[in-house]
Parts: sequence; C-alpha cells; structure tokens
Amino acid sequence: MTHKSSLLLHICCAPCSPYAIDLLRKDYDVTAYFYDPNIHPEEEYRFRLKEMKRFSHEINLPFISAEYDIERWFDITKGHEMDQEKGERCSLCFDLRLDKTVRFAKENGYDFFATVLSISPHKDAKMINRVGQILSNKYGIKFLETNFKKREGFKKSVLLSKEYGLKRQDYCGCIYSQRN
Ligand code: SF4
Repeated sequence: MTHKSSLLLHICCAPCSPYAIDLLRKDYDVTAYFYDPNIHPEEEYRFRLKEMKRFSHEINLPFISAEYDIERWFDITKGHEMDQEKGERCSLCFDLRLDKTVRFAKENGYDFFATVLSISPHKDAKMINRVGQILSNKYGIKFLETNFKKREGFKKSVLLSKEYGLKRQDYCGCIYSQRN
C-alpha cells in the first residue's frame, strides 16, 4: 500500500466540505480542522460546528476543532465593517483562519495544509491562494492551492450536501455578511 501525504484541511462549514473532502481523500490522508471565529452569532457557530462533527463521524474523517475566539476576529477586521464580500476584510479573515491552521499543521507534523473556502462562488480563489502561499513560506509547510468551484465543483458540492442532509446557510458567516 502506498503511503499518502497527510493534509490538514481547514473547513468553513459542513455543506461546503463534501466535494473537497471526496476529491482530496483520493490522494491525501485528510484531517478536518474547524477554526471559524468569524461565525456570528455564537448559536450559529455552535450549529455549524455540530454539523461538521456529525458529518465527519459519518464519513469516518478525523476531526479537530479550535476555540471560538470571536474577540480576536473583531480586532483583526476592525475598520473593515463596511467592506464588500471579496474585499480586504475577507483577506484578513482568511489570514486569521489559515494562520491558525498552518500553525497547527506545523506543530503536529502534517505535510500539507489546505482549505475548502475556494468552493464558494462568493470567494476569490486567487485571494485565498495568495494568503495560503504567504503562510506556507512563513511557516515552511506546503499549501495545496485549490479552486474547488471549477468543473462545476460548487454544483456538485450542493448535491452532495443535500445527500448528506447538511443544512446550507444563506450568508458566509460574519455579522457583516449576515447584514448584507
Ligand atoms: S464575508 Fe465571509 S470571508 Fe468575508 S469577512 Fe465575512 S465571514 Fe470572513
């Protein structure tokens, strides 16, 4: 049996994840990592966390979650309350979440880190990959660049999440995206 490289996969929410997980598991030994202090309100955060835990258990995927440090998220995005989605606030938000992910990957000896975030049509894959590459250089861990929405990836992900009964929310996560 060939040995697969280990990959720590940042997850933003369960319904965005099935397609990416299926794809990556063919080539990598994947662990899901849930660090999303952007999600508002806390009740919604708890819900998304619980859904991802349940889904990981169902598909036999190792699952790790980090803390809900929303104060830190507000600190980092201060001054960007009015930014549009795909703007500077999102870049800061990606950086916060991926920085935590890469540090966990480094401390725990993973070969790669990646994120499912690029599945969303509302997310700029170039921005995500730029943030990932900067962190990869900073910490010395390989970042797997992706654009999961390509080749009808988003459509496939919607179908898969329906099959698994995963509820899809109508806003990205933060209080500002909820307001829009
Ligand atoms: S819209 Fe989404 S990616 Fe952008 S700052 Fe809000 S939660 Fe983060």
